[in-house]
Amino acid sequence: MRGNLIIISAPSGTGKTTILKRLFAEVKGVTFSVSHTTRGPRAGEKDGVDYYFVDQPTFQRLREDNEFLEWAEVHGNFYGTSRREVDRHLLQGLDVFLDIDVQGARQVREAAGGECFSIFIVPPSWEEQERRLTGRGTDSPETIRLRLLNARKEMQDAGLYDFLIVNDTVEQAVDTLRAIIIAQRSRTRRNPDGLPLILPGQ
Ligand code: 5GP
Repeated sequence: MRGNLIIISAPSGTGKTTILKRLFAEVKGVTFSVSHTTRGPRAGEKDGVDYYFVDQPTFQRLREDNEFLEWAEVHGNFYGTSRREVDRHLLQGLDVFLDIDVQGARQVREAAGGECFSIFIVPPSWEEQERRLTGRGTDSPETIRLRLLNARKEMQDAGLYDFLIVNDTVEQAVDTLRAIIIAQRSRTRRNPDGLPLILPGQ
């Protein structure tokens, strides 16, 4: 059976990466799609693992060749999701996380319709978010300013998502995310017969 397509968005500094890492260590059958970006790698980021780091002409070519399920300009850089990579994982029966911004989420919802669901993670407060962004020490003050500004805009899309998670503590956020994944896997519509996939005693 095909896996679930799961959109996950969060303004910068929400703690999304930490939550996802923890979830991936705990839950089987999940993967995430590695995006292409024109942004340069941060310290510790690896090509093909965190992103496929490409230059603008390469990104443009991929876009023209319709290789992207969605793409967007975020914080002054281009980001895109590979259609092939997503399909490959879904066909393997894996639940695929798309860690994308609100613009990308709108495009995927339109393309995939009821075949996907979406989750929005919010920080407990603006102060906490600014503290997290500054504290990670990877971005310049100008980049942080831009990201905070964008965060306020992105929050306006929160109501379009199926689920909202407040990242008060990582443990609680991971618990909620895990519960959502399990609930989605249990939907009757995921089995054409409307019967449980594995009947007790079989
Ligand atoms: P970062 O540069 O911090 O890794 O990511 C910046 C933003 O770009 C995040 O909100 C992230 O979710 C978003 N992003 C990453 N990959 C993609 C993608 O393939 N498509 C879209 N639309 N957004 C992406």
